[in-house]
Amino acid sequence: MTPLIAKVTFVALMVGWYVIRRPYERKASRARVVRSARDLRETILLLVSLTGLGIVPAVYVATGFPRAAERGFEPAVAWLGLLVAVASLVVFRLTHKALGRNWSVSLDVREDHKLVETGIYRHVRHPMYTAFWLWALAQALLLPNWVAGLSGLIGFGILYGFRIGREERLMLDTFGDQYRSYAARTARLIPWLH
Ligand code: SAH
Repeated sequence: MTPLIAKVTFVALMVGWYVIRRPYERKASRARVVRSARDLRETILLLVSLTGLGIVPAVYVATGFPRAAERGFEPAVAWLGLLVAVASLVVFRLTHKALGRNWSVSLDVREDHKLVETGIYRHVRHPMYTAFWLWALAQALLLPNWVAGLSGLIGFGILYGFRIGREERLMLDTFGDQYRSYAARTARLIPWLH
């Protein structure tokens, strides 16, 4: 593993992410939104997350900026990053497969929205956020730069921290006891742990 291959791996993670998401974006956009918790705060959170997971590392990979924040490159750490990147894509694919048309980039309830409790949602209720945490971790392991490496954990961490309570409230308001019992037997991010 070399710094160049590590950067290429990160770009492949971004491309893989897009390829997985694109068909579901189309599918979901055909289902009308009937209830939403989207607001300015949500939009700002999405931008913060996009900046940390996408823009800052993309600028770094393309230009090397900010050079003052370079850290030493450890091949073993970058190899671990590659494994985490693959895990992130696998989990991301499984979440989209299970959520299908119920997916949304923000907090929406669609026409005929179904509460998904099967597939990867059987043991964890926010596996797509697990996949984003894995992306952020892969970024930190792959990119030998303190700013570009850690910006994903910070950017996504802010979105997650401010969004998760609201999302669970929206699901509770929409699905009532069905969500209450689903939440009681599932973990948020890591099966049986958290
Ligand atoms: N938090 C989930 C989904 C993220 S996508 C995860 O991490 O996997 C966000 C959208 O998914 C929200 O608009 C919400 O309405 C919807 N959603 C969240 N959990 C859901 C579930 N179990 N079944 C169906 N839709 C869900």
